[in-house]
Amino acid sequence: MERFGTWQPKIRGKLFYNWPKGSCEESLRFKSSEQLGTEPYDVVIVGAGVIGCGLAYKLSLYQLRVLLVDRLHDVGEGTSKANSALVHSGYDAEPGTLESELLYKAEIEWPDLASRLKIPIDPIGGIMMAVTREQENQLSAAEKNAHANRATNVHILTAKEIREREPNASKNILGGLSVPSESIGDPFITSIAYAEVALANGVDILLGTNISNVEIDSKPRAPIHHIVSSDNHRIATRRIVNAAGLGGRHFADKYGGSRFDINPRRGQFALLDKSARSLIQHILLPVPTAHTKGVLVSPTIFGNVIVGPTAEDLPLDDPTSTHTTIEGIRKVMEGGSKLVNGLNNQPIIATYSGARCACKQGSYLIRYNDGGKGIVTLTGIRSTGLTASVSLADHLINNLNKEVGLELSLDKEAIDSRPKSAWPGWWQRPFECETPNAREDHGCMSCYCESISIGEIADSINSPLRPRTMDAIKRRTRALMGRCQGFDCQVQIAEIISDRTGIEINKITKNGPGSELVANSQAEAFA
Ligand SMILES: Cc1cc2nc3c(=O)[nH]c(=O)nc-3n(C[C@H](O)[C@H](O)[C@H](O)COP(=O)(O)OP(=O)(O)OC[C@H]3O[C@@H](n4cnc5c(N)ncnc54)[C@H](O)[C@@H]3O)c2cc1C
Repeated sequence: MERFGTWQPKIRGKLFYNWPKGSCEESLRFKSSEQLGTEPYDVVIVGAGVIGCGLAYKLSLYQLRVLLVDRLHDVGEGTSKANSALVHSGYDAEPGTLESELLYKAEIEWPDLASRLKIPIDPIGGIMMAVTREQENQLSAAEKNAHANRATNVHILTAKEIREREPNASKNILGGLSVPSESIGDPFITSIAYAEVALANGVDILLGTNISNVEIDSKPRAPIHHIVSSDNHRIATRRIVNAAGLGGRHFADKYGGSRFDINPRRGQFALLDKSARSLIQHILLPVPTAHTKGVLVSPTIFGNVIVGPTAEDLPLDDPTSTHTTIEGIRKVMEGGSKLVNGLNNQPIIATYSGARCACKQGSYLIRYNDGGKGIVTLTGIRSTGLTASVSLADHLINNLNKEVGLELSLDKEAIDSRPKSAWPGWWQRPFECETPNAREDHGCMSCYCESISIGEIADSINSPLRPRTMDAIKRRTRALMGRCQGFDCQVQIAEIISDRTGIEINKITKNGPGSELVANSQAEAFA
């Protein structure tokens, strides 16, 4: 029998954090590119968001040497951690575009992917709601658009039919559209699950490493380029995939990638307490505009409700692109209240904001041999990347073979699922499993809001990507995400990480070096 909290398949890839001495165990610390071996990589993916992780996972099924690198300190820590978390059916995409095609394929693949990789999703369906005559008049075109995208189960609803399905729908609702194939999912576990399987299959992962330069090899045949980190590590590779999201423009400048213009489109959200969950049954969507899908009200897979996002275009590199503002939160609560009665009486327990990668030249822009042979630029993956990550990876692999000569030979040893016992698994609690291996610490609570035990936090620390920051533990276990937002359990969780890893308490960080929780002068109090 598999032990709860263990990862049975052998982990074949190497994992390193490019962190200062003392910030993690020496065995995990990146000191020199020699730790990665001397052979050039077949593919280096720059950017471990959901797109880079999805590609790494799919590439790991082949006999290839692959490196996934990110400047942040966990996978999926950029835009991929701050979205609406919907697994879209693609009903509202522009028919005939690559985005429409990828969403169509993704919808078919997601149920099986979620079950193999243990990614929680719930196909609760959506309802688009019209609250003005103008919006009501748009419903028929929206229905036609959905059918053109092969979402033939989408159909118009009367206001009465909506109220039967959603008793708390606003009295202003005039009609709507049923969108049965929309799902809610876990945005954090998606990147983590992809990366864990990739690592198990032999993909190397390097975190905390900003790639600040590319040395192009201009040999016409079999060139070997080098990516160079800000702290001067050089890594050899035959191909580079720029999956750097909003960092993609600056990164493309390093290899002379052709022109595209991107900007962050900020999306702010209010997160409501679990008491709000009973207000709604479906994902409630406004009628979209040309600029944005608009402010939705949706259950989260964790049992809360989100209201958002805004759509605010900001200049590239604007430091406030992931900030929340009073005006933003007011706007989303006003928008949500147009759809649902009683929303304003619900407690907001947190606010957050994510920045879409809006590209002037279009969505899902992919360029092969861009600035150098074997270099691929991906950009404009703006509003649907969580959903399309799986089908985009297949699309890319096919084209990497055709356009940049990547030879594809299946790796017979590769696994294509996460084992049942794998951590993380907030949806599968130790006390709910038939396991003789549950330990005593699985019965000792640490996070009371989300009922997470000390044992589960310890298991997550030992999970394949060896999370070492508070935020990384939070995304795996849900500890710190409840009503108190860590007020009660933060110190204890920092102590658990410190105890289990030997990292001194004053080196435990929120999200990587520079975000230490405890000042050196306070650390003595913990000793
Ligand atoms: C408000 C909002 C709502 C959304 N809602 C949904 C939704 O409901 N459903 C859906 O499917 N999609 C949704 N999306 C879209 C989805 O979140 C994105 O398309 C997806 O997360 C993009 O992933 P990515 O990997 O391209 O980017 P990111 O997650 O940003 O990853 C890029 C990574 O590259 C790294 N990087 C950048 N430069 C460098 C460098 N020089 N060296 C090393 N690393 C570097 C960054 O640190 C980052 O981790 C939403 C997005 C937003 C903002």
